[in-house]
Amino acid sequence: MTDFNACPCGSLKQFFACCEPCILEKELANSAEQLMRSRYSAYVVGAIDYLVDTTHLSTRANYKREDIENWSKSTKWLALEIVHSTATTVEFKAFFVGENNTKETHYEKSNFVFENGKWYYVDGSFY
Ligand SMILES: [Zn+2]
Repeated sequence: MTDFNACPCGSLKQFFACCEPCILEKELANSAEQLMRSRYSAYVVGAIDYLVDTTHLSTRANYKREDIENWSKSTKWLALEIVHSTATTVEFKAFFVGENNTKETHYEKSNFVFENGKWYYVDGSFY
């Protein structure tokens, strides 16, 4: 990240005007894609509570807080690419440097649900 204030999600907006208000839970994501972007940024900045809180209750138990935290912190996140999004799904690639210092890609199609006025991450298929 050359510009410290640039949002990690790659929107070209500044962090404070993009994902940060969602991560601080001052604003709600207004779409599945916005939630996905803010969750990626939360991985980058280590906002573990936000990642747990925005996972739907039906699947939250599948994502251990400890695992989320380890993955967030042991990974050097490089970039996010949104491949395709619909109202309730987002297909994306997250580029990162993994444990062996090699560039890796996490390619996922995530499912989201809108419930009680909030978007939640449910689960994903991996490629
Ligand atoms: Zn952002």
